[in-house]
Formats: sequence, C-alpha cells, structure tokens
Amino acid sequence: MAPKSDIEIARAAKKKPIQEVGSKLGISSDHLLPYGHDKAKVSAEYIASLKDRPDGKLILVTAINPTPAGEGKTTTTVGLGDGLNAIGKTAAICIREASLGPCFGMKGGAAGGGYAQVVPMEDMNLHFTGDFHAITSAHNLLAAMLDNHIYWGNELEIDIRRIAFRRVMDMNDRALRQIVCNLGGVANGFPREAGFDITVASEVMAILCLATDMGDLERRLGDIIVGYRRDRSPVFARDIKADGAMAVLLKDAMQPNLVQTLENNPAFVHGGPFANIAHGCNSVVATQTALKLADYVVTEAGFGADLGAEKFFDIKCRKAGLKPAAAVIVATVRAMKMNGGVAKGDLGDENVDAVQKGCANLGRHIENVKSFGVPVIVAINHFVTDTDAEVAALQEYVQGLGTEAVLCKHWANGSAGITELAEKVAALADGDSADFQPLYPDDMGLFAKIETIAKKIYRASEVIADKKVRDQLKEWEAQGYGNLPVCMAKTQYSFTTDPNRRGAPEGHTLPIREVRLSAGAGFVVVVCGEIMTMPGLPRQPSAEVIRINDEGLIEGLF
Ligand code: ADP
Ligand code: MG
Repeated sequence: MAPKSDIEIARAAKKKPIQEVGSKLGISSDHLLPYGHDKAKVSAEYIASLKDRPDGKLILVTAINPTPAGEGKTTTTVGLGDGLNAIGKTAAICIREASLGPCFGMKGGAAGGGYAQVVPMEDMNLHFTGDFHAITSAHNLLAAMLDNHIYWGNELEIDIRRIAFRRVMDMNDRALRQIVCNLGGVANGFPREAGFDITVASEVMAILCLATDMGDLERRLGDIIVGYRRDRSPVFARDIKADGAMAVLLKDAMQPNLVQTLENNPAFVHGGPFANIAHGCNSVVATQTALKLADYVVTEAGFGADLGAEKFFDIKCRKAGLKPAAAVIVATVRAMKMNGGVAKGDLGDENVDAVQKGCANLGRHIENVKSFGVPVIVAINHFVTDTDAEVAALQEYVQGLGTEAVLCKHWANGSAGITELAEKVAALADGDSADFQPLYPDDMGLFAKIETIAKKIYRASEVIADKKVRDQLKEWEAQGYGNLPVCMAKTQYSFTTDPNRRGAPEGHTLPIREVRLSAGAGFVVVVCGEIMTMPGLPRQPSAEVIRINDEGLIEGLF
C-alpha cells in the first residue's frame, strides 16, 4: 500500500475541541474566541493579563540551506513540540500561517508533514481565520487612500513618480507585477506605473508580526512611508490619515490563532511574513503569549540559518527582547548528498562520500548559530531512503564539531520518533548555557551592519554597492533610521548570491542591488540579487489537481 498523503493523515486526525486544547495551556474557554470547533483566537485582553508571568524556554528550529530535496523545518518544529509533550513537558508550537500563492502554485502546505502536522490542515492552507484577508484589506485601504489623496488635489505634494507603496493580493499572479493604474481619463486620476506584491510581502504583514499590541501596531502603520515629495522628504501613512482605519481592519488579525497538532498539542499559527524582504517568522504576539503559557516554545524561522536564523535573532529577538535558549538545525541525508554534488534523480542511491562532502554546509551553519551565543543541536530528519552508513557519517561529522546530531523519525512515527531529540533539547535549554547576543549593535552604521553579516555569516570577503546605494543608506542615517536592523534579501540556496553555489563557499563578494526602507516594520531591506515579491505560477500549477470529490472532501491539497 502506498504511504498515506499528508492530507489523508490530517483528515484521519482525532481532533479535540479547541477549548480542550486551550485548557492544556490553562486558557479558560471565555478567553478563546472560537472559529468553528477546531480553531480559536486568544483574546487580546487575556494576553495583556499574562504580562507579569515568567517566560518559558524559547527553542528555534532552523536548517541548512534548502535544496530541492526538502529539509522539513515545519515538520520538525511540529514533531519536536509533540515530542516534548510526549516526555511530559508543557510545550507549545509557534509557526506561520500559509499563503494561497504557494498552495496553488508548486510548494506543499505549511502545516508540517507525515505524522507531524498541525490540523485542520485544509483550513490552515486555505482561508484559515481570515488574517491574510484582513492584512490585504488594510494594505489596499492605504493604497486606495493614497491615490485618492492625489486625485483630490495632492495637498501633501507627493511626487507620483516616487510612490513607494504598491498593492497586494494573496495569489501568485505575474500579470500584476507591473501595471499602469488610474487609466481612463480625468475622472480616474493621474496615470502612473504601479504593481502588486503577494500579501506575505506586504509591510503590513511584517508590522503585524513585529507589533507588540494594538497601540504599537497603529504607530508602526502610521510610520509606513508611502512615497516622497520632489525634495525627497518622505510622506507617511499617518499623513494620509490611514493608520487608524488600517488598525481597525487588523483588530482581530492581531490576536493569535490556536490550533492543535495530530497529537492534540497546542500550536499557535500566526502571521506569515516573507522570509526574504521581511523577517520570515511568526508573530511576536504569538511567541510571547506561548512563552507565558508553556515551559517550552518551539518556533521556526524561514529559509536556511544564514537568512532565517540571522533575522530571527537580529530582528525579531532583538526587537521583542526574546532570549532563545537553544537552536535545532534540521539537516537531511538527502540534502547533504545534494550539497555534496549528487543530482536530484540519484538521491535514492547510497553515497557516503557525498554525505561527507556536503556536510561542510551544515558545519558552517552550526558555527554561525553558535556565534549568537545559542547552543545548537542537529536534528536529522529521517527519510526512508537514508541508509545507516549515511546517517552515521553525518553524525560523526557533527560530533567532530563538538555538537550532537540526533536521528529523528517524527515524519513516520510522530512523537514516538523524536523523544531522544526532545530529551536532549529540553536538557540543553534547561542547562541555561545560552548567552544570546545579536550579531551587531543598534548603533553600528547601516553599511557596517551589512558588512558584518556578509563577513561573519556568509563569509564573503567584501560587500559591493553603487554610490547610489551607499548615499541612500547615509541619507536614512541622517533622517534617524540608522539604528534599525537590516533585513537581508538573498537567495536561500547558498551562502553567496549564486543559488547554484552549494557547500560552504568563502571569499566571495556580496553585491547589493538595492535598499528599501520599511520604516513601519522597523528595518532596512537589503536586496542582493533578484528578489521576486510577486511570484508566478509554474507551467502546471498544483491548482489544476485540486478539487472536491464526491464525498465532499478536498483532494490534491498535497
Ligand atoms: P520546510 O518547513 O523546511 O519548508 P516542511 O516541513 O514544510 O519543510 O516539509 C516540506 C515537505 O516535505 C512536506 O510535504 C513534508 O511532508 C515533506 N517531508 C518532511 N519531512 C519528511 C520526511 N522525513 N520524509 C518524507 N517527507 C518529508
Ligand atoms: Mg516551513
């Protein structure tokens, strides 16, 4: 019999009513705002009442540079949460919400996989509790008010060639990347070039994920720069008077969503910022709430550790004052082999040499994550094709670095497959050996911050940028934005800007193409190489096989 698909496993889950899941964390049902039987938001008032409680231990799940072979960060995050509960700990999981773009495009869901999943996976991968719709609406309200302001006389004297705010929707649609809007004559405004990004790339999304409460949310929304005047001075969302109404649209979306794993353990699923032009981790509100309610909180950062973990530490943890206690780096034998030069079609064949060769990539990430003062353990996410000799080679390599690599079979066996890792992670976190430090101080210059990341994390020898880019950074420093962290937008596949350079390259140059100020989110985006903020659909989008069958069940959603 063929192994069950993720959706078949998810559908067979024996879900508990969401109130029972909440009660595991001590949340009484009057603080839960249910969305059906198996999803609920945790009320803002209740969250505010927790503020004096001590925090649990924060555990980051990150990974090597991804390969087409797949690593399984979300799967391991969910599995480890279940594993910690299985060994008697109170643990909660914090992950991101899913975007419809990849769902109907090419990548699978965002709810984990195999026997380490969050349910209801169909809802989570589709409309869920409507947060993305709220974010899309709030974003587009500002866009509409901006064009409307110009239409009615442009009192703020916005230079329509320098508008810096696009529209968004939650779909992969390359047709909308570049558009001309306001066509049709006098009654429709002033024609100009514009475009759409996918909702997860919206600054409003990044803001929702970094804001600590409604007041902070509204202030940050007001700080969004929508464009510039002819004298280059910025015009803010606050000047357009959109911030209040945007916050109203986001009132429910700000409250974190609670769901459960296949093993009925609590999982917060909240926020979904892009991992390249934003910081790529779930909301601060969800993480802080989970830390107040559970002894251990397992959370995931998008992409490989060079991008995901760095931004988790330098943006999210720095800004929210979070202190991670331990980090798990997910590696797979298959990805090591790809890093070691094996083609995707040959991954099924045993190749210990290639595993050994590919380990350099993992080694670099281990060293990097440790440099933040966070103790590291490696999770080998087991695939059925892995051989014992290959697993042993990986473990031996990691041991040589003074770290441990634990074989985990949560995808196949749920919590029973990951108890060893759970024990070791709990011990690591309880050992209080973490001494978390961001990589650079707030008061370092913006260009120096980029250089620090390039040299210490990517091991580049230099950063190259046009005078235009350097001048722009200096101008922002003069305007008071110099203390912001930088948000690197780079390929996730390599330490360099060349997605094909696997392994652990060093001495390369990091070219900066462009810099963008996300003044509301509170970071400067540094674009290195091509970054797509509105993806397209592949030749055969997965939407082609998604349908409802005769029994009324969704098919084709992985
Ligand atoms: P990431 O979070 O790193 O992008 P996911 O955890 O979402 O990765 O996993 C991506 C896909 O890989 C999912 O469809 C999942 O079912 C699959 N997968 C993860 N781990 C395994 C494994 N050990 N064996 C087989 N498939 C796996
Ligand atoms: Mg993931």
